[in-house]
Amino acid sequence: MGRSSKDKRDIYYRLAKEEGWRARSAFKLLQLDQEFNLFTGVRRAVDLCAAPGSWSQVLSRKLRASEDKKGETRNEEVKEERNEEVKKEEERKEEVKIVAVDLQAMAPLPGVTQIQGDITKVSTAQEIVRHFSGQPADLVVCDGAPDVTGLHDVDEYIQAQLLLAALNITTHVLKPGGTFVAKIFRGKDVTLLYSQLRVFFSQVTCAKPRSSRNSSIEAFVVCLNYSPPEGYVPNMSNPLLDHSYDVDFNQLEGPNRIIVPFLACGDLSAYDSDQTYPLQLDASQEYRYTPPTQPPIEPPYQQACLLRRNNLLAKEDSLPLAQEDSLPLAHE
Ligand code: SAM
Repeated sequence: MGRSSKDKRDIYYRLAKEEGWRARSAFKLLQLDQEFNLFTGVRRAVDLCAAPGSWSQVLSRKLRASEDKKGETRNEEVKEERNEEVKKEEERKEEVKIVAVDLQAMAPLPGVTQIQGDITKVSTAQEIVRHFSGQPADLVVCDGAPDVTGLHDVDEYIQAQLLLAALNITTHVLKPGGTFVAKIFRGKDVTLLYSQLRVFFSQVTCAKPRSSRNSSIEAFVVCLNYSPPEGYVPNMSNPLLDHSYDVDFNQLEGPNRIIVPFLACGDLSAYDSDQTYPLQLDASQEYRYTPPTQPPIEPPYQQACLLRRNNLLAKEDSLPLAQEDSLPLAHE
């Protein structure tokens, strides 16, 4: 298989390399932002389960971006105004704080503080708050995914656990009115997760960006206006492990059943992630292969690759789609 064949099969993989993103997942956050304006007024953001870092790249570029306004001009007044604007932009950049958390190490990124830690631990929540000098975050995003096994029930269950861990940690760090965005698997027990989220957020939407394949069970919950119940004290308890919640959630009716709107997002003219495109996208420009932006550092699959190269792997299974999606863009 030539190295350009994945460029052909997966348009977002290719675009990620060409635009300098570490993983194709970047487009999912960008397309969610197109629909929900996630970054307006955001100064402090947390990226949970961040490695290899494409969502952190998006946060860094969006929150810290400033246009270069130092253009040439003879007019002293305009020059003065521009300098003032540039100064303000620099101050704003200094105010921006982004904290990225993952079990795995991540190559550094400008303006992003990294915590190598587990989002199921309260100590991780405390470390995040410490980085914000005790101030709460405006936005928490979580693209967390466990190592997918291919056994759907198991994968959905573990993913739900991770989402609840992300929600728990969010209740420790998010400001009232803040936004939480997280990956969700739309499995049969998704209603329980929606119900949990609706306890804490006044608006919950399930969104499917165009860059997320239709063939994948993944979608994203966009939860707006964090408003915990009165007297709520953040803790790390997990209702999925609490047997008092032993109910068949698909049987819930009336006000007990939470119906969350489903929204396909991303401009309809954006590339379709399930389609194969020719290498020459634009007649005026010749296709040129682009290597990955940031080759993975210490990936957990390194040993498996080594074994495969030496023909020591018993079986050569392909990865389930949901997992392949957010792998760092390794050299092929
Ligand atoms: N958003 C990332 C990006 O754009 O580059 C991709 C994230 S990847 C789909 C999922 C990540 O979840 C993996 O890096 C994995 O290490 C992390 N993860 C899984 N369980 C975790 C946990 N308990 N605590 C912290 N990170 C976790």
